[in-house]
Amino acid sequence: MSAQAKEKYGVVIGLEVHAQLLTKSKIFAADSAEYGGSPNSHVGVITLAHPGTLPKQNKSVVEHAIKMGLACHAEISRYQIFDRKNYFYPDLPKGYQVTQDRTPICKGGFITIKTKSGIEKNIALNRIHLEEDAGKSIHLENEKDTLLDFNRAGVPLIEIVTQPEIESSEEAALVLLEIRKLVRYLEVCDGNMEEGSLRCDANVSVKLKNSTVLGKKVEIKNMNSFKHVQRAIDFETDRQINLLEKGEPVISETRTFNITDGKTYAMRTKEELNDYRYFPDPDLSPVHISEEWLERIKSQMPALPNELFIRFISVYKLSEYDAQVLTDEKEIAWYYDELCSHNSLFKENANWLMGPVKSYLNEKKCTIKEFPVQPLKLAELITLVVRKQFSHTVAVQQVLPLLIEKPDINILNEAARLNLIQTHDENLVGLIIDEVIKEFPVKVEEYQKGKKGVVAMFMGEIKKRTKDKIDFKQTNDLLVKKLSEMVIR
Ligand code: ADP
Ligand code: MG
Repeated sequence: MSAQAKEKYGVVIGLEVHAQLLTKSKIFAADSAEYGGSPNSHVGVITLAHPGTLPKQNKSVVEHAIKMGLACHAEISRYQIFDRKNYFYPDLPKGYQVTQDRTPICKGGFITIKTKSGIEKNIALNRIHLEEDAGKSIHLENEKDTLLDFNRAGVPLIEIVTQPEIESSEEAALVLLEIRKLVRYLEVCDGNMEEGSLRCDANVSVKLKNSTVLGKKVEIKNMNSFKHVQRAIDFETDRQINLLEKGEPVISETRTFNITDGKTYAMRTKEELNDYRYFPDPDLSPVHISEEWLERIKSQMPALPNELFIRFISVYKLSEYDAQVLTDEKEIAWYYDELCSHNSLFKENANWLMGPVKSYLNEKKCTIKEFPVQPLKLAELITLVVRKQFSHTVAVQQVLPLLIEKPDINILNEAARLNLIQTHDENLVGLIIDEVIKEFPVKVEEYQKGKKGVVAMFMGEIKKRTKDKIDFKQTNDLLVKKLSEMVIR
C-alpha cells in the first residue's frame, strides 16, 4: 500500500479491558479466586453449577468495581441487577455467564493519557461492568481430548469499555497502561498481563480522515501484552485500508491475533454470532449501593497517580519527567514521599531513587517493597552526601551496598571504621595533585598547548589514588589552578 493511500485514512479504536479482581473468593462462591493452583482444586458445587446450588454475592467485588469507577470519574449506579448471557462453551459450567448487561455498575467517566508529544487526552468510557470469568480449556500435544480446568470459572472480573475515541495503536497502549496503573494503585487487580489477569479486546475500524462516519469495526480478541495489542492494531489497520483501497468492504467480525506471524485471522462473523438471550438472573438479588456504603468506599480511596504527580511537581518542585517516572508505580511513589518527609533534598532523593536504587532493583529483579534500606536510612545517606561526608561515587558504590547488607548500621560510624569518609584537607589533596602532575609531564605540556581535556584524565588518576574519597569539585578547582599556574610560568 502506498504511503499516500494510507495517509487518507484514520484508525478508530475502542477497547474492552478485562481485569481480574483481587479478592479472596470468587464472585458468587466461597472457592478461592487465587491464580493457579493444581487444576480443579478451587471448585465447589456453585462453581461447577450443580443443580440446586445458589450463588451468593461477594461484597468486596462490588467495592473494587466502585473504586475503579471513582478513579475514572464515572457515575456509580446505585441499583444493579445481574444478567445471564447464554452461550455454550465447554469451560462455562452453567451454560451462561453472569454479567451486567443493562445496569453496569459504573457509567461514563474517562481515562486520561499523555501522548508522546506531551498532550493530555481524555478517552471517554462507555461503562465498567461486573462479570464472572470462565474456566480454561487446555489442549495438550499428544492428547486428543480437551482438558478443562475450572479454577478460573467464577473469578470476578470488571470489564472496562471505552468509547471509540482512540486514534492510534500507541494511544491504545497508553490507555491500557493507564488502566494497569490505576488498578494497581487501587489494589483491585494485580495487572499481570502474562498471567492473564489483565486482558484486552481491541475494536478497530478505519475511515477517511475527513469523514465523521465510523467504519465497520473488527474485534480482535483476548490479547495479553502491550506489544501484541499495538502490533495487532497496526496490522488490522493496514488490512482494512487495503480492502477499502481495492473497493472491497470490511466485514464486521471477530478476529484473533497470531503472535508468530503478526497477522489477524477471522474467527466468526457477526452473522454467526450467538444470540445471547440476556435476561436478569433470578437467583441473584439486585445490589443496592447506599449513600453510607458509597461514602465509606470513597473515604478508603488511596491517593491516585495523577494526584501524586501534581503534588510532586508543586510541593517537591520536580520536573514533569521525574514526577511521571516516580508515580508510575505506587510503591515507588510512596517510598519517595517518605524520603522527602525525612529530608528536604527533593531533587537528590528523586535522583537516588531513579538512579542507584532502580538499578539495584532491576539487577535483583525485585520491587521496592523488597528493598532492604528503609526511607529514613536512605534519606540520611543522601543528606551525608550533600554535606560532603562522602563523594557520590563512594556513597553509591560502597556505602549503599553496605546499607543493603546491614540496613540498621550507624552510617557514619561504619564508614569511619572502613575509612570511607571524604577528605577536605587541601594540603593532602594538593600533595596528590602534585604527585600526578609530576608523573605525567607530557600531559601537562598538552594542557599548556590548550588541550583542556586532559583535566579529566588527571581527575581520573587522582580519584583512583584517593579511592574517590575526595570532594571532586574542590579537587578539580585546585588541579586547574595548579595546571594554569604552570602555564603562566
Ligand atoms: P457491540 O454491540 O458490537 O459489542 P458496542 O457498541 O457495545 O459494540 O461497542 C463495543 C466496543 O467497540 C466499544 O469499546 C466501542 O468503543 C467499540 N466500537 C464501537 N464502534 C466502533 C467502531 N466503529 N470502530 C472502532 N471501535 C468501535
Ligand atoms: Mg463486545
